[in-house]
Amino acid sequence: MTLAAHHLAAGTAAVLVALWLLRSRWTYAYPRAALILWQISSLTMIVAAVGALLGFGLAPYGRGLLPALLELPLHATELDIWHFAAVTLGLALGGWLVVNQLLCLRSTARARARHRLLLQLVARPDTGALVVDHPVAVAYCLPGRTPRIVVSAGARRLLTDAELAAVLAHERAHARERHHLVVAPFQALRRLLPNSALLTRVCATIELLVEMCADDKAARQQGREPLASALERFHANGSGGTPAGALAVADAPVQARIRRLRQPEPSGFPVAWPVACALTVTALATSVSLFAVPL
Ligand SMILES: [Zn+2]
Repeated sequence: MTLAAHHLAAGTAAVLVALWLLRSRWTYAYPRAALILWQISSLTMIVAAVGALLGFGLAPYGRGLLPALLELPLHATELDIWHFAAVTLGLALGGWLVVNQLLCLRSTARARARHRLLLQLVARPDTGALVVDHPVAVAYCLPGRTPRIVVSAGARRLLTDAELAAVLAHERAHARERHHLVVAPFQALRRLLPNSALLTRVCATIELLVEMCADDKAARQQGREPLASALERFHANGSGGTPAGALAVADAPVQARIRRLRQPEPSGFPVAWPVACALTVTALATSVSLFAVPL
């Protein structure tokens, strides 16, 4: 039971940090720092939830989780119904989450592969991007081992040279910083629970923070105003649909990003961030190590 209590404490710490992140505005000024906390706290919540269920269920064995799990096939009949149900639920939850992530990764990889093939047929390379001859204004990054930056003829007509350079810098930032790997676990969770309003809100937050990271990188290279006006033009023009598995320049709430680029709110780095980071890292390390500790 001590193991389950430790996991519950670690999970509670992670939940508190996630709630703080959801309510904070400093995250718009420091999206990268916020994403680090989101990733650690989310992983902690998942490991702790599985660990708490297994910790409770395997408590009668009086051993660490992994040694007890290895014993389970031989001594499962020694558990009462509640402990057995907790073990079953813990294993099912862990397996379900892993399988769902793998299935989502596979379907996304297939969609991207299909799209890469299509681009080979219809796109032509120009000024560091693949240009698709289509009137709708779109620009996006198709991630992968060799990422593709795609821009439509409509977008090239819509934007000035400076705006186009800013948009391409934004897409290159997505590709270079592997942002698709940041959003993928959260999108997989949302696919698992599509009706969860909280999960939808968390996913939207993560996607917005990722866009802001790419905005910051592009703004440092090309200036804030060209990117802001490019976003404004995309928004006014109505951006086209983004292919599955791609990251588009104008997907996330555009007004918030334009406002942030033009009128950045002066915000000092939150003094609580190192504390929250240390708390979540400790919680995650505790939860992971409890799987191996032979208590
Ligand atoms: Zn983007």
